[in-house]
Amino acid sequence: MTASPIAADLTPGRPVVFRNATVLTMDDAHHVLPGADVLISGDRIAAVGPGLEVPEGTVEVDATGGILMPGMIDTHRHMWQTAMRGYGADWTLTQYFVWNYLQWGKSFRPQDIHAGDLLSAIEAIDAGVTTTVDWSHNLQTTDHAEAAVDALRSVPGRFVLAYGNIQQAPWEWSATPEFRAFVDRYFGGGGGSDMLGFQIAFDVPPASPDFPEKAAFEVARDLGVPVTTHAGVWKVTTDEGIRLMHEHGFMIPGTIYVHSATLSADSYHRIAATGGSVSLSTESEQSAGQGYPPTWKLREHGIPVSLSMDTSVWWSADLFSAMRATLSADRAREHLEAHSRDETVTHHKLRAEQVVDWATRGGARALGLDSLIGSLEPGKGLPGPARRRAHRGRQRPGG
Ligand SMILES: [Zn+2]
Repeated sequence: MTASPIAADLTPGRPVVFRNATVLTMDDAHHVLPGADVLISGDRIAAVGPGLEVPEGTVEVDATGGILMPGMIDTHRHMWQTAMRGYGADWTLTQYFVWNYLQWGKSFRPQDIHAGDLLSAIEAIDAGVTTTVDWSHNLQTTDHAEAAVDALRSVPGRFVLAYGNIQQAPWEWSATPEFRAFVDRYFGGGGGSDMLGFQIAFDVPPASPDFPEKAAFEVARDLGVPVTTHAGVWKVTTDEGIRLMHEHGFMIPGTIYVHSATLSADSYHRIAATGGSVSLSTESEQSAGQGYPPTWKLREHGIPVSLSMDTSVWWSADLFSAMRATLSADRAREHLEAHSRDETVTHHKLRAEQVVDWATRGGARALGLDSLIGSLEPGKGLPGPARRRAHRGRQRPGG
């Protein structure tokens, strides 16, 4: 295979400038710059604007006629399932649970997790999704977890391993010495990296009022890492889980509530008041049946939103389809509600610009990475040495 002329020029450290693009900066004011350039120097964006002067030896890329936007961010993707990409195109959530949780999930070996994660990571980068949370809930042993880390590290993108295990209760697997040793080995004491973060992933079904999940939340608190949880999933997770989390003090900023499609106003208030955010998988919610995609409710409560694809077993890795589906679902609901009152919607509340924000800045904020990713602004990219220490302290367990 012959490298393209551009690829051959992209030696590490050599600056690159994209010329004459329509640049969606996604800065706080959402500035759109027609005919603008973006200069990348080292690991960071050095400048954005028209007619940039660039250092000698900079690689020039003519982006005339193109749109340049920030890499998109997916805050919830079960990457291991990409091994079964497209297999469940007509599934409901019930069929998905039966196949993955009851029948075949246990059969996944570490090498199967590796294969799924590797394909998923490449699929994400190919779709312009440069940061992905791997909601990895089939890590039956730490060998499985190591396989996931190996796959994520082998692809040049930014990932967050959200560690979970559907085959065991969260208060069981999170309490094992093997789990702690794994976290120490890969994410503690300088072992973490700016390109690989860590979260803990489990759900709180209303099965037990004595809240055994408390122990797993305490592990997350002890490690200083966020929890991500499927909340408000029809007949699976309910307001009861939110209430238990809140009353025990575990609803804190940085918590990501996936779907949140069938919650009461009271639960939305608790999420809004405690600084959490919702990861919306619109195509998943529409097709699998977790509940109606809730942006029309989240907007009312001022809850921050990020987008996600959930799983390639049904859908693609393409956040453009997530943006379109989210816009459609919100507007369909708005029209439906208005018609039931014999009214006509003359101006949409949810704007296209807002869903682009959710696919970029929304994810960056949800992950606490807004200073590094999510917009095309000078200084974004990898942190410099001083910021890197501070940043890693935040992202890393124990920091
Ligand atoms: Zn999910």
